[in-house]
Amino acid sequence: MQQLTILGATGSIGQSTLAVLTYHPERYRVFALTAHSRIEELAELCQRYQPRYAVVAHVEDIPRLQALLSTTVTEILAGTEALAFVASHQDCDTVMAAIVGAAGLLPTLAAVTAGKRVLLANKEALVMAGSLFMQAVIEHGATLLPIDSEHNAIFQCLPSHYPQGLAKVGVERILLTASGGPFREFTAEQLATVTPAQACKHPKWVMGRKISVDSATLMNKGLELIEACWLFSATPEQVKIVIHPQSIVHSLVQYVDGSTLAQLGNPDMRTPIANALAWPERIHAGVSALDLVQHHLDFYPPDERRFPCLRLAREAMAKGGTAPAILNAANEVAVEAFLAERLPFIAIPQLIEAVLTQLPMSPADNLDTILSADQQARIIAHDWLMQYHSDLVKSPD
Ligand code: NAD
Ligand code: MG
Repeated sequence: MQQLTILGATGSIGQSTLAVLTYHPERYRVFALTAHSRIEELAELCQRYQPRYAVVAHVEDIPRLQALLSTTVTEILAGTEALAFVASHQDCDTVMAAIVGAAGLLPTLAAVTAGKRVLLANKEALVMAGSLFMQAVIEHGATLLPIDSEHNAIFQCLPSHYPQGLAKVGVERILLTASGGPFREFTAEQLATVTPAQACKHPKWVMGRKISVDSATLMNKGLELIEACWLFSATPEQVKIVIHPQSIVHSLVQYVDGSTLAQLGNPDMRTPIANALAWPERIHAGVSALDLVQHHLDFYPPDERRFPCLRLAREAMAKGGTAPAILNAANEVAVEAFLAERLPFIAIPQLIEAVLTQLPMSPADNLDTILSADQQARIIAHDWLMQYHSDLVKSPD
């Protein structure tokens, strides 16, 4: 029986994880569930899964959650340290890291440092602290399994000894597929007026709001490029992005002998989640088999002029050090402002580029440096936003 902690249980990935678990009560038991603000939803999950711990963000929410629970088996904790506690607890075997954004870094690192089996959905953690993160995986003997559908696909297409190095196992290139998001065919003029509701309506995947906006700007693919470089020890040049609107081919690996291996499936996160939960075994995920006859598959290159976030991410990875952490923090501020209708869609990359230009990167050799780069980038991003709004007031056109 595997004891599982789900960081971000009320989110889209958290829900899909619980959906897979319902098929396998004999294999998995929920050890801890965490949520940020959706206390009612967390209460329902606690009633149903009876975890040993539930973690909320704020101490004030403890009595609120307690009042909603008729069970006393669940101990309720609050705050970042509590997240790290349930992620590294000796009785927990596996941690699903599904908190969105930089907030997931410390608890995910706590799971890695405790040598857990870590199912990584929280790509921002790896983008921010890739080098430290991967060192910690090796040092503490953690098992890191990718949940992002593309990275899980790549993982499935690689031989098990790939950590020896991509060249050693005959890999020439990784092809990272991208749906292209809801604005794939929009002109630059159309992109100027898109709304948060349009951005959050992804054509192929149902996801949290932040990653939905990232998919629309293609920053998601930029973050995934960085994620792939760290997970598979690839150079940015070895990772090529291909637009594939149907989201059936989840990614591909090309070998020196001319072979291209791909992983295909219906676009449903329960597949990579089940793969990572059971690896190296296979378990039922509740996902129907792919009916290839029903699908027409297209592939073409991305347009970086309409979607500059891709270039910004590649440049940040090439710069190295704290540049990806700065990129990530600026993106989080920009996406939040866009969702609050305080920033137009096309200004998202402008804000990110301005922060990357203003804040020099430094070596990312310790956590404090990374967290401080994250904080500084957020301050500069907020200043940029204030300036942007005061310029708007001066010249409303
Ligand atoms: P979501 O917004 O649906 O859920 C986020 C979860 O994180 C919620 O449970 C929320 O309570 C928790 N959370 C938010 N802010 C927090 C904070 N400050 N402290 C603690 N907890 C907090 O997001 P999602 O779509 O499930 O995505 C989660 C992660 O998985 C992201 O990093 C995303 O990039 C990645 N991912 C998601 C998908 C997908 O299909 N949804 C696919 C691939 C990767
Ligand atoms: Mg993905």
